[in-house]
Amino acid sequence: MSSNPSQGFGTRAIHAGQAPDPSTGAICVPIYQTSTFVQKSPGVVVEEYDYSRAANPTRKAFEDNIASLEQGKHGLAFSSGVAATGVVLHLLSAGDHVVLCDDVYGGTNRLFHHVFAQLGIEITLVDMTDLEATKGAFKPNTKLVWAETPTNPTLKIIDIEAVSALAKSHGAIMAVDNTFCSPYLQNPLTLGADIVCHSTTKYIGGHSDAIGGVLITSDDELYKRMKFIQLSEGAVPGIQECFLFLRSTKTLHIRMERHCENAMKVARHLEAHPKVDRVVYPGLESHPQHDIAKKQMHGFGGMVTIYLKGGLDESRAMLEKVRIFALAESLGGVESLIEHPAIMTHASVPADQRAKLGITDNLIRLSVGIEDIDDIIADLDQAIG
Ligand SMILES: *Cc1c(COP(=O)(O)O)cnc(C)c1O
Repeated sequence: MSSNPSQGFGTRAIHAGQAPDPSTGAICVPIYQTSTFVQKSPGVVVEEYDYSRAANPTRKAFEDNIASLEQGKHGLAFSSGVAATGVVLHLLSAGDHVVLCDDVYGGTNRLFHHVFAQLGIEITLVDMTDLEATKGAFKPNTKLVWAETPTNPTLKIIDIEAVSALAKSHGAIMAVDNTFCSPYLQNPLTLGADIVCHSTTKYIGGHSDAIGGVLITSDDELYKRMKFIQLSEGAVPGIQECFLFLRSTKTLHIRMERHCENAMKVARHLEAHPKVDRVVYPGLESHPQHDIAKKQMHGFGGMVTIYLKGGLDESRAMLEKVRIFALAESLGGVESLIEHPAIMTHASVPADQRAKLGITDNLIRLSVGIEDIDDIIADLDQAIG
């Protein structure tokens, strides 16, 4: 009962990688809370299991499940999204060059520029919605292209197919951070990417109760190298987390449907609000890359970015008044969250780069949850005032 690509998403979400336990018939994959496994004779192990850093049956079930949802062959689970990102960077050597989209998650930006740059990795930031500029960013030593779409927090949409084609023509690996979409809304491997990365902390976990990351690929050689790094570095998730993520993927499709529906209603409502200057949401016709979003996404997601009329004072007033929305970093949980990127999630991005990206004091990021839409909208209205 592992990956059967002909089945629909909901069926794979519930069944891929998760045959009932052969010894007891338990319908849920048990939490194999064990560090080691008994061998029948030296080197003779059951399946592949000898030590849980290398492999564990609960983790394996989650890895197979998520690979199926991304329409990939192989999944690898990690203790966090940034741990997964670091493994992709460890495919590189000193002197290699990366083309990185200019509007990435703050922690990704920090990892590239403050950890891997010191190890001799060269980085060029580029606005990947501009294909000419992206083409110009490649160098003879470019080995990796890293994109995130929609970007964070300005929700630009990068054409995965077009940028993957550029990466391929330069012999570089194309990696896409698909956290904002989840595998339900976008499958970068089907658009030409080599590696998909997720922070499972967000939509995949979906309940704001666990930290984790995954990588998915269909390339056997890349899988082998990344699995070796997973084993060598050891940033693997705890077994309880694997169980939680497995439980969560079973409802991913219905949660994402509601996130999308609610976010669209919030975006339309705020677009008409007199105290809101601008709303950025890939599902709005006013979004500059709406057509690309329609082409490569199966829905427009739960993230909405707004520019209030005014500045920091107006932003602060709204953020202090919300009651259903919680003022917190992170995203993708069932509960609605609101945050101020310039002060919170993107504080580690240098001020001049923030200004260039349009991460201003009146920019507010919403992670629209799956509460009742009337309550969500009433809360935003009373907070904006
Ligand atoms: C949260 C996030 C990450 C990092 O994941 P952690 O699980 O917090 O380590 C990476 N990319 C994106 C887009 C994220 O939102």
